[in-house]
Amino acid sequence: MLTESKPPAGPPALPPSGPVWQSADALVAWCDARLAAAETRLAALPKATKRTVANTLDTVNALYAELDAAGGMASLMFSVHPDKTVRDAANGCTEKVERLDSRIKTDRAVYDAVAAVDIGKADAHTRRYVERLLREFRRAGVDKDEPTRQRIKAIHEELVKLSQEYRKNVSEDVRHIDITGGIEKLKGLPEDYLKAHAPKDGKIRITTDYPDFYPFQTYVEDGALRKALYQQFLSRGDPKNKPLLEKVLALRHELATTLGHATWAAYQAEDKMVKNAKTIAGFLDDLEKILRPKLEKDVAQVLARKKQDDPKADAFREWDRFYYVGKVREQKFDFDARAVRPYFSYPKVEQGILDLYSELFGLKFVRLKSEPVWHADVKAFGLEQDGKLIGKFYLDMHPRADKFKHAAQFGLETGIAGERIPVASLVCNFADPKVGDGKALMEHGEVTTFFHEFGHLVHHLLAQRTRWVALNGTACEWDFVEAPSQLLEEWAWDVDVLQRFAKHVDTGEAIPAALVKKMRAAEEFGKGVDVMRQLFYASYSFHVHSRDPAKLTLETFTAEMYKKYSPFPQTEGTHIYANFEHLIGYSSMYYTYQWSLAHAKDIFTRFQKEGIQNPKTARAYREAILEPGGAEDAAELVKRFLGRPFSLDAYKAWLEAE
Ligand SMILES: [Zn+2]
Repeated sequence: MLTESKPPAGPPALPPSGPVWQSADALVAWCDARLAAAETRLAALPKATKRTVANTLDTVNALYAELDAAGGMASLMFSVHPDKTVRDAANGCTEKVERLDSRIKTDRAVYDAVAAVDIGKADAHTRRYVERLLREFRRAGVDKDEPTRQRIKAIHEELVKLSQEYRKNVSEDVRHIDITGGIEKLKGLPEDYLKAHAPKDGKIRITTDYPDFYPFQTYVEDGALRKALYQQFLSRGDPKNKPLLEKVLALRHELATTLGHATWAAYQAEDKMVKNAKTIAGFLDDLEKILRPKLEKDVAQVLARKKQDDPKADAFREWDRFYYVGKVREQKFDFDARAVRPYFSYPKVEQGILDLYSELFGLKFVRLKSEPVWHADVKAFGLEQDGKLIGKFYLDMHPRADKFKHAAQFGLETGIAGERIPVASLVCNFADPKVGDGKALMEHGEVTTFFHEFGHLVHHLLAQRTRWVALNGTACEWDFVEAPSQLLEEWAWDVDVLQRFAKHVDTGEAIPAALVKKMRAAEEFGKGVDVMRQLFYASYSFHVHSRDPAKLTLETFTAEMYKKYSPFPQTEGTHIYANFEHLIGYSSMYYTYQWSLAHAKDIFTRFQKEGIQNPKTARAYREAILEPGGAEDAAELVKRFLGRPFSLDAYKAWLEAE
């Protein structure tokens, strides 16, 4: 029998002759060393009859710490590295990590070993760790017989292929409309757009790509043209994607029922904050009821504006959304988004956000100038508290060729109490002070995004309380993970906060309170329409996964969803099921955006009472919600911070506010 001992050390890490991203070879060698270390742990899981925390749980934890590091690095390097060979190597690493992860999760011997550990006297974190781990294994089908496990594996592989094909069909299906009759048909569009779309052989071609599509929907006065392009936009992927989606739905249903759930939506809900499908259905119903009156008010205003152009107009249509909501905003609030840009120069915004977060959460951000980075633009920082380094992060904030195009936080390493500090990176595409006139002006929406992503970053860095890697960082329930970042967006709308750093790039004058007020009022308008559209997506994604796909007809289902949840009637000749890509990635869980937001609004009520810049409140928030990460149920954390259980009231008040 084995005695209790520390798990054996894995193979030694590569000698640190340089950063792991210095070349494709270095990355591959580093990744393989991490995986080999994980394999060594796996092989070391002793065939003992007496299972202990030390000989079993610590080993599994160490194994996952290796996978966490390899997966985090690979995912970041794939998104940011300037060299294609390194990006390809990163992609290869991700595949290896996923393969090993799935092999472990379906390994009955590992499951039995973990299940056999006596945790009767263990602390709460250890018990939670084991419960979550065993649930994950069961959700992967580890306790099924061999033929069933093989079938589950085949379904997973088939789903990966179908998903890739669905996405590819959408991205490759670029449609267009050809407009004849000259440039005057495009009345309303800005000069630069017109210049980029000069007529060829008497025709102006507009495609369904975003840079063409959104300005066209926002500015073109001719409603018939907006409609024609919208129809093309919502037909992308058709007809190829319909049979693919039907197959995806059938396979997901088979997988869910094999694993003992009534539907895919129920299976997906099990390990989320909502816990079951009924809670989601109830939340969507509540939302619909709250939203209906607000939507009607918005639509009445938009329709009145539409009637000024077309006295016979009798409905607000899908292709009117951006155009007329924008018109009302312009008319009612006299707000031009361009007016705030001179106050948001990137370097000032970055400094402002660092200063604010450091004050609020009692942290110190120290620039690490000699730390190696993967591109000259990237800045490394240490996170210090009471003179101690407790985390590290990178800011990769400006666009360049072959870089990830959106804004996101990447966890590089999750912290482990007493053993490993957390590391993360922000990857964004904000204006670069080294380019053009050097002013690097940002849209207010981008400033909000910065606050949002930094919210994810501090969550990842501060949640390092336990020794269990799977409970730290942003390991809270998946449908809560946006709440801390959505909460911090509130700071981007506060006059006092903005005036700390939003100084005019030429005059140095702080952003005027009146301008912020106007900006907020304009932003508030159209919430009924916007959130109803979100509800439509959420309901579509949930309900399409809540029934037996054998009895589902996508056309009938789509018509039903439009009738019940859409802010406007369905547009003839469109096929949203062929291009709604979140059905692939989020599957049944699009509700998470609004669910998280409802929690963020509720958490914010305490800041509203005690002061948005009150460091005591911020510290309490840090301790109650950020630091625990996934160590407790999110509902418990929210309750602790608010002193009462979560309530929809704040979200409701926000939706109803004018
Ligand atoms: Zn986010």
